[in-house]
Amino acid sequence: MRREQWGEELLFCWWLLGGAVSGQVHAGNCRQVPAGRCSLWPGACWGLRYLARCMLGVVGRCMLGVGQCVPPACGAGGAETPAPTAVPHTMPATCSACGASPAALRRPKTGHALCRACFLAAFEEETHQAIVAGRLFRPGETVAIGASGGKDSTVLAHLLQLLDQRHGYGLRLLLLSVDEGIAGYRDASLAAVRRHQRRSGLPLHVVSYRQLYGWSMDRIARHLGPRNNCTFCGVFRRQALDRGALLMGADKIATGHNADDVAETVLMNFLRGDVGRLRRGAGAGPAGGEGAVPRCKPLRHAYEKEIVLYAYFQGLDYFSTECVYAPQAYRGYARALLKELEAARPSAVADLGHSGERLSLRSDLRMPARGTCQRCGYVASQPLCKACVLLEGLDRGLPKLGIGKHRRLRDKLRDGQPLTQEERRRLGAPDEEEPPEEQEPRGELGTDEEPGGRRELRGPRDLDF
Ligand code: SF4
Ligand code: ZN
Repeated sequence: MRREQWGEELLFCWWLLGGAVSGQVHAGNCRQVPAGRCSLWPGACWGLRYLARCMLGVVGRCMLGVGQCVPPACGAGGAETPAPTAVPHTMPATCSACGASPAALRRPKTGHALCRACFLAAFEEETHQAIVAGRLFRPGETVAIGASGGKDSTVLAHLLQLLDQRHGYGLRLLLLSVDEGIAGYRDASLAAVRRHQRRSGLPLHVVSYRQLYGWSMDRIARHLGPRNNCTFCGVFRRQALDRGALLMGADKIATGHNADDVAETVLMNFLRGDVGRLRRGAGAGPAGGEGAVPRCKPLRHAYEKEIVLYAYFQGLDYFSTECVYAPQAYRGYARALLKELEAARPSAVADLGHSGERLSLRSDLRMPARGTCQRCGYVASQPLCKACVLLEGLDRGLPKLGIGKHRRLRDKLRDGQPLTQEERRRLGAPDEEEPPEEQEPRGELGTDEEPGGRRELRGPRDLDF
């Protein structure tokens, strides 16, 4: 391995983990490196993290040429992954913006060599401009920030609070978290949210799948198996955020989706031929959305690498372990493809986001009409919303009822006809001998700051919109 490649590996580990005290990613299981591409030994980034932090954070200058590198645009520079060539491995000694301070990084988005202060100022100003140009907020609005404890939402919450004070947006900001019930992942990331809440003083509200639906993701995964968990989780999370925002009286939900997320979503929607989502902006849409509460993505033009750098230079505390169910997610394939594209063409992320915004479909294309779910009142284009269909399958012990092409079987059940054993097996029914699993108790829903003000919710069916 070339000396510069080692530099990239080291910088990558530092960059990925953000120098954060809570980083728990291990090699080969991180968002940036497609599975099997990391050329470090598993666990090596734990050790390298401290080494890299020492070289970059304490000494301030790279001793192995690390500071001369940009965070790799593709994987970690593994054997079969070409080293990034778009930005030369040389960096001016001084910041190209102020010309006075030593350059600390080369911006992945623009290639400019900047000092810490100039990078932070540029990143904050760009976010402010995106908010103003997109007219994302109006004075007096209550904005619920979707807070997962990860880098994106942590940076978003920090930035919105800072920009609101600096530019006088006049917003009431809240943190809204969703607890999917994924042991070893969400419990730890919620701890990071709570730490942020204590530092920022913003009100925090947590809604959980167990409280809303009576099912945690871990329990769903036990019934469903390793595949399709993200289908349930994505549908439930969308509703959970809306329900939490309505309970908090929020006018809008701001999410931490960045340019890479948007590009992945555009790519995924194209690959799936999801015309509905492509029409609604393919994931790149401005304020608005398909749910009950309008949404916006203030960081949708920000590169993921720059968000990590911003979090690092601001010393933000975030959680970076990947969800245990993520390796099975279809998004992972879109992400790996995007990394390959980005290696060949560094502007691929921005280009795909732009494509999503500019895409237009034939005007005579018939789209399903938006109505409300007969059972829970949520937005739906069918008699039942997707969450209620998924719940129906779970409650019947047929977890695959709501996914895939099972319309005939759904019609059979609706008409009260019995299913054959083979049909039940296709819908994921457990073997007859298996004892039924004990129902998880549904909890109560309330705000962390208002323990006395808890409201009972038994699930989406009992919620009144
Ligand atoms: Fe949910 Fe899938 Fe994300 Fe895990 S990876 S939190 S299961 S959507
Ligand atoms: Zn419903």
